[in-house]
Amino acid sequence: MSKLLEKAEERLRDQGGRMTNQRRLLFSILDTLGEHPTAEELLLLAHQQDPELNLSTVYRTLRWLESENLVSSRVFAEERRQERFDPALPTEHHHFMCTNCKAVIEFDSELFGVIKDHFQDENSAKVVTGSIVLYGLCSDCHHRVIFKGSKLKAD
Ligand SMILES: [Zn+2]
Ligand SMILES: [Zn+2]
Repeated sequence: MSKLLEKAEERLRDQGGRMTNQRRLLFSILDTLGEHPTAEELLLLAHQQDPELNLSTVYRTLRWLESENLVSSRVFAEERRQERFDPALPTEHHHFMCTNCKAVIEFDSELFGVIKDHFQDENSAKVVTGSIVLYGLCSDCHHRVIFKGSKLKAD
């Protein structure tokens, strides 16, 4: 069984909450998707299996997962600022977002420790956690520009 689904089920049980089919559906989509969807994107995917599901249920489920620390919400610098939900169990990791196709790539970097140390030394501060977001063109979009010399728009 997958991680998020398993943990969510466990927490629900502890709290005496019910594992409804709709909750299970949302948990498992988040788990297998491996992306950072918006609530609307999640609803769209869920509708393929359950057309009855509505956006407020999606939000309520996401907020609950957030309060349980099973997803975290992130806002990237996009033209349309929207909340995206990150199903990676809250571990410290970083993101790259392609400004053309909006693909999000997660990465870890040992060098982040150097940045933290540097900041702490300079500011006599204690850094608890942090996350870097890099922006640019993903490999596909980058190559499309180089080889086709085309405008930055997906075909
Ligand atoms: Zn992430
Ligand atoms: Zn791209």
